[in-house]
Amino acid sequence: MDMNVETAKSPGETREFQAEVKKILDIVINSLYTEREIFLRELISNSADALERYRHQSLTDAGVDPELPLEIKIVVDKDAKTLTITDTGIGMDRGELETNLGTIAHSGTKTFLTQLTDGTKDVNLIGQFGVGFYAAFMVAGKVRVSSRSFRQDDTGHVWESDGGGAYTISAASGLPRGTSIVLELKEDAAEFADPERIKRIIKQYSSFVPFPILVDGEAVNTVQALWTKSKSEISDEEYTEFYKFVGNAFDEPLLRLHFDTDAPLAIKALLFVPKDNFEKYGLGRTEPGVNLYCQRVLIEQHSKTILPEWLRFLKGVIDSEDLPLNISRQALQDSSLVRKINSVVTKRFLKHLEETAKNTPETYETFWGDFGYFLKEGVVSDFGHRESLGKLLRFESSTTEPGKLTSLADYLGRMKIAQKEIYYIHGSNREAIEAGPYIEAFRKRNLEVIYTMDPIDDFVMGHLAEFEGKKLVSADRGDIELPELDEDMQDKQQPEAEQELDKTQTTDLAAWMKGVLGDRVKEVKESKRLEGSPAMIVNPDAHMTSSMERVMRAAGRQADLPISAKDLEINARHPLIKGLATLRQTDEFFARTVAEQILDNAMVQAGLLIEPRNMVERTYRILERAVSGSKGSAIPRDQKPE
Ligand code: ADP
Repeated sequence: MDMNVETAKSPGETREFQAEVKKILDIVINSLYTEREIFLRELISNSADALERYRHQSLTDAGVDPELPLEIKIVVDKDAKTLTITDTGIGMDRGELETNLGTIAHSGTKTFLTQLTDGTKDVNLIGQFGVGFYAAFMVAGKVRVSSRSFRQDDTGHVWESDGGGAYTISAASGLPRGTSIVLELKEDAAEFADPERIKRIIKQYSSFVPFPILVDGEAVNTVQALWTKSKSEISDEEYTEFYKFVGNAFDEPLLRLHFDTDAPLAIKALLFVPKDNFEKYGLGRTEPGVNLYCQRVLIEQHSKTILPEWLRFLKGVIDSEDLPLNISRQALQDSSLVRKINSVVTKRFLKHLEETAKNTPETYETFWGDFGYFLKEGVVSDFGHRESLGKLLRFESSTTEPGKLTSLADYLGRMKIAQKEIYYIHGSNREAIEAGPYIEAFRKRNLEVIYTMDPIDDFVMGHLAEFEGKKLVSADRGDIELPELDEDMQDKQQPEAEQELDKTQTTDLAAWMKGVLGDRVKEVKESKRLEGSPAMIVNPDAHMTSSMERVMRAAGRQADLPISAKDLEINARHPLIKGLATLRQTDEFFARTVAEQILDNAMVQAGLLIEPRNMVERTYRILERAVSGSKGSAIPRDQKPE
């Protein structure tokens, strides 16, 4: 024992544990074999609590041994297979030993017992239920606690138990202030009689305990609780060093956010965005990287609940500092508290992103390029932050240069007076979108269209639904209502040289095409907006875009269902459509082939999958016909086509 004071104890008094404690001990001793190393976190955390409480007390009342340094000493005896954890904290008098280590006052115990017995056996929760001390019995056959309260009138006591039904308690003398716990390790827990192992466990769980932890005299927790210091005291190097530690990283962070709030909760947070997004590289799903601390004691490493799932790329620490130590564990069971912290920190981080976008746009663009995907996931999965996330989205559009991005706010700034909605269209790339039929009418009216080129984008737009009161509308929607061309633009249009089919001719042709195409289309109708293309697919369903449908089919959902029926719009001014109206009278059989091909081409342009075999065969038939049609215009043999 690392106490250079002679101790003596009187014969002990034996007492029964409370029934709940017996139950817990029974489970701890007989059925918990994994993650046993957490016993050390629990004991260190108790010591840290005790030291913190002593520090608090000593402000008004120095107590015994005021000159003792506030620290935690661990001594490992390899031969004797013992582990001794000593702190100079507040200590316990006889009554406290009995109450604290023999009974359980916390209401969470029942819940913990159910948790442990219902098969999950998540021993990690032991601390959260206020019974962390008993974790010692996972590794120790016998536990001896010597403690002396800081109060002047206490002389000290020794508490001893083998985790069976009872413990003994006896008076001792010569004890310094604080608590010393000796664990006599079980045969199968001899691994913990190894200073290196102990140091590793401390580094993993207790690095930021604000008191020195010494293992066989050597300080182990050299990393400070950086997040509790004020920003002005921390250098960039220190931040980076901390990031490397907490994020298990080797690079420098891309962004960092260090903040402190007092209301509605006292939170200190230090968060980092790494340089690389490994999930993007296809290296599997990123696991959450933010640790939850309470008063610098680790509560949950890589917490899954303290931030939304879509912020799983963040590394760092959230410490809810204001919670009084003795209620912290219990308060944490109250998930509404965790939800509140979650919401406060998420909001603050999104605000930080907005500021970054404003102040250092290049940095934000880099961030967006690598991590924008997560924000899109947030829009789709997290209603609560949708509005703030909407401001952070970036897309190419018909107005941006290729590769350059715009925000929705900037789009709003460029909207035409008569324009009521924000338009977007999906395509696999910019060229495909611009060559396709969907943006013709928008181009003619000088209306900006956002290009959604990521498969998830249309879901993002669908969930966002509107931005600053303006609806987001996919350009492949059937019922789209475009603003009238203003005088100015109309003047610029070329006089329409081409004659279009008249109303009856168009209606007739449309009805005939519907007959030919059958269930493959819901309706065939005249287009009000096509310019250069003969036809296009539009969606009668306002909530589903063609791109969304394709993604869902690719993901295996609805894969066995036929593509939901779309409308086909035809351009009555286009030579192909006019020609088709005539061909129908002279060669209906071939006209049917052409009608089918028009539909397939429109499907391809909509990004919808079609069965290539029929289409290829049909194209050959059409080409054959084209070739035989040009028989008369004899091409000289030596003149090769381009
Ligand atoms: P919790 O720490 O969550 O309350 P534990 O079972 O770990 O639950 O500990 C029970 C109580 O025993 C603590 O609340 C504390 O009052 C007391 N205690 C445990 N370890 C120490 C220690 N090293 N110094 C002073 N008091 C302690």
